Amino acid sequence: MNYDCLIIGGGISGLTCGIKCVSEGLRCGILSSGMSALHFSSGSIDLYGYHTNRKIVYQPLDYIERLIIPEGRHPYSKCGIDMIREGISFFSETLEKEGLVLYHNNDYNHFHVSTMGTVKPTYLSQRSVFNDSIKEGFKKRSKIAILNFSGFRDFYPELAAENLRKNSLFSLFDIITGEIELPLFRRTEKNPHEFRSMDIARIFDSEKYLPGIANQIVNASGGALFVGLPAFIGINNFTRIYQRLSELTGMLIYEIPTLPPSILGMRIDDALKSRFAALGGEFIAGDTVNGGEIVNGVLDHIHTENHGSTRLRSKFFVLSSGSFFSRGLVSEFNMIREPVFNLKVAASEDRREWYSPSFFQKESHPFLEYGVVTNNTLNPEDTQGATVENLFCTGAILPHYNPIREGCGGGVAISTGYFAAKKIIEGCRS
Ligand SMILES: Cc1cc2nc3c(=O)[nH]c(=O)nc-3n(C[C@H](O)[C@H](O)[C@H](O)COP(=O)(O)OP(=O)(O)OC[C@H]3O[C@@H](n4cnc5c(N)ncnc54)[C@H](O)[C@@H]3O)c2cc1C
Repeated sequence: MNYDCLIIGGGISGLTCGIKCVSEGLRCGILSSGMSALHFSSGSIDLYGYHTNRKIVYQPLDYIERLIIPEGRHPYSKCGIDMIREGISFFSETLEKEGLVLYHNNDYNHFHVSTMGTVKPTYLSQRSVFNDSIKEGFKKRSKIAILNFSGFRDFYPELAAENLRKNSLFSLFDIITGEIELPLFRRTEKNPHEFRSMDIARIFDSEKYLPGIANQIVNASGGALFVGLPAFIGINNFTRIYQRLSELTGMLIYEIPTLPPSILGMRIDDALKSRFAALGGEFIAGDTVNGGEIVNGVLDHIHTENHGSTRLRSKFFVLSSGSFFSRGLVSEFNMIREPVFNLKVAASEDRREWYSPSFFQKESHPFLEYGVVTNNTLNPEDTQGATVENLFCTGAILPHYNPIREGCGGGVAISTGYFAAKKIIEGCRS
């Protein structure tokens, strides 16, 4: 099994890297142990959302170019502004080819509503979360109805509405809440544990229930212009279902993320995997890379739990195994380590410095900025301090940025994945 490029981790970063590599004709495989952060995410891509003083950044690319890139250590500094722009465009075009169109407000951030009813700046969203009609409708300051399906336990309209009412952006809106019934619910309620966003998304995928659902939405909305629904308007057939439901209700339909699993994130995950496979990439799911051999600064091969002693060889490798959440980094009592190759990690050795005293501290937690040390081309160091030239690290495993405090997780994952792909393509052609 010889590859041009083998990627460890099938999250948004590994997939962006893999799709770029296969689109340029490289033989590429992705090994991934489990679900990625996409399954838990809002499904919107944050590029840069907040200044250090928590004020909102309105023009993220301009901000990154002027203030983040010159700082030197941030992953964006290593990519450079042209690569960030190119990577984000490539990502959008890739999803569009799979029928998933993302909205961007030119070079400006727009806002999306979280499941708690907080409002967050972001750069790319699905069109059910933001689009030009929603933007125009918002200016009318009219009525919003936030509806749930009776029996669905992973969304709380009253909580979302209460928090929105506290937000000055929504002070002139009349916000009501309500419930509607889902067809088939009588059958699913025999086992309420099955009544999750994924089950409902499947019901939506079948168009035959739409007229009935649309009627109920209109009746429960009290003449509102907007209706906020938990995000499960279809998964495979989403674009068509969203359009049909908008036509049938005559309302502006807005999807609000639910508790995980995130249908908005899963649509992106599905689209990326489908594109990767369509271009000839090989996605190996459910296998964990548990080591490899680095000889004189070159990663010779890796091995995995399922492949046993088989050595998987490639010209280049990419480590996109995520942060603590995905076990790309692990914490032990007094150390933080990278578990596959034991690469050098930037982290405090004093456990008391890993986290802030308060969970919701404004400055967030220092451990979110820990990660694998790399040079300017994202190559890490082995245990002897030698640069591993044919291994790149991308995405949430990188240090010196804080995806929560800065609001930049998706943007960093895409930009660094794309940047590594460009280096690998160059390397394969030289
Ligand atoms: C819960 C959560 C929600 C988030 N929401 C958002 C959001 O809404 N918008 C935003 O812009 N950013 C968000 N982020 C920030 C997030 O860091 C990035 O957006 C991005 O998803 C990270 O992608 P990644 O590919 O680097 O890593 P991940 O998505 O973490 O993927 C890593 C993958 O590697 C696999 N893996 C790990 N170790 C191995 C191994 N040894 N062998 C094989 N496979 C392995 C894991 O199973 C996983 O599939 C969120 C982060 C988290 C944790």
